[in-house]
Amino acid sequence: MIRVSTFNGRTVAVFGLGASGLATVRALEAGGAVVAAWDDSEAGRKAAADAGATLVDLAAADWSAFAALVLAPGVPLTHPEPHWTVLRARAAGVEVIGDVELFFRERAATSPNSPVVAITGTNGKSTTTALIAHILRELGNDVQLGGNIGRAVLTLGPPSEDRIHVLELSSFQIDLSPGAAPTVAVLLNITPDHIDRHGTVEHYAEVKRRLVEAAQGTAVIGIDDDWCARIAEDVERRTDGPNVRRISVREPVADGVYSLDGTLHERAHRHEQTAPIPLDGIATLRGRHNWQNAAAAVAAVGALPNGVRYQVGLASALRTFPGLPHRLEIAARLGPVEFINDSKATNADSTEKALASFERNIHWILGGKPKEGGITTLKSYFTRVAKAYLIGEATEEFAATLGADVPFERCGTLEVAVERAGNAALDEGRDSSVVLLSPACASYDQFKNFEVRGDAFKSLVARLIAQRGGR
Ligand code: ADP
Repeated sequence: MIRVSTFNGRTVAVFGLGASGLATVRALEAGGAVVAAWDDSEAGRKAAADAGATLVDLAAADWSAFAALVLAPGVPLTHPEPHWTVLRARAAGVEVIGDVELFFRERAATSPNSPVVAITGTNGKSTTTALIAHILRELGNDVQLGGNIGRAVLTLGPPSEDRIHVLELSSFQIDLSPGAAPTVAVLLNITPDHIDRHGTVEHYAEVKRRLVEAAQGTAVIGIDDDWCARIAEDVERRTDGPNVRRISVREPVADGVYSLDGTLHERAHRHEQTAPIPLDGIATLRGRHNWQNAAAAVAAVGALPNGVRYQVGLASALRTFPGLPHRLEIAARLGPVEFINDSKATNADSTEKALASFERNIHWILGGKPKEGGITTLKSYFTRVAKAYLIGEATEEFAATLGADVPFERCGTLEVAVERAGNAALDEGRDSSVVLLSPACASYDQFKNFEVRGDAFKSLVARLIAQRGGR
């Protein structure tokens, strides 16, 4: 745990008592602050009280006593409208920050040169964060991984110069962290998302820009969308700004890392810096989207001071990346058939990445609670699909989109879909085929969340393989 000493002797309001809120309470108290904890939900308050937090009804509290309001990132700061605690804080002149801000202030106070890599972007944050942490660990570093992935930032080990913090940051977390100044900041991409929480795409992009602008050393920026390309130019123009290293999977870059065909090229001042690193054969980094993630990871690792620059080590570290569950995860293999769990794909954009990653013979399990627009944007991939297996509420809508272009079956449940898709793929006798769960839908018509759906897929696959005599 990180002791937050920067509020020693002062009183801090903490609102939102989930896992990161409770960690914040503990970290502030350990550093000598008095904490007034509150949550709108009865269950949240009870969990906090059970964990030993002092509850104070912030609606009735005297706000002039508070040095800061620490808000959980899920609580609206600006849109659709500021939470009532934010309005109370503003009226009383109390600053509103998040746990990531507490981390950066503690670092500034105790170990300002400790290396921190912070990763943001609309898509690929978790994969890139996990990949950077994996590479750095493989190269022998003490790595602390957390933030918007895995552990709340204040539960990690404290910053120190011989340890590297690798933090995934959502735009909500950045919005609450005016002092975030990582050694290396990575901005992967920007597509309109979470506009309900940021008002406009301009504001959303502005929040992301803040993180890369504030990097102490290097900003790694994906330039394959117009928003990020502009941000890269703006950051580069600043005389006091960080170095900019660009990444692209569409065009060569003069300074940074790019891949046009699945091989990474690292360049500085237009010159190849290292031998090209091939990604083909790395099952956990399949697909052009993962080339972008890998390019960002290589650029970020190379930008760290005393950079770990062992070419052989870097290439082999990429090869041993275990990947993250539910994102093109290999659930099993039997003979020529691969079973892929892509349950994280809850919309058509994500499923597009999956369909683009397999050239043919896809037995595609999809459906659930449909999103607006359905799967109409995926039509150009339909020729890759051997057959579609429909589940959940989206069945009739998706059946209409697939129409005569793709053979499909209505399966109702995931259980039936796995059995039919698996047996069909195993029986068809092709050189290679894939049973792909990439639903393009939310899960909650049939499952608690995408993780439960993905886990169910994996156990159904294991059962089928046992029935078919595999192991
Ligand atoms: P995030 O943490 O930003 O949600 P993840 O790494 O968990 O991102 O990936 C979530 C999904 O986003 C993946 O299943 C994939 O469909 C898609 N994705 C991953 N990386 C990228 C990328 N670089 N560009 C576009 N989409 C991506």
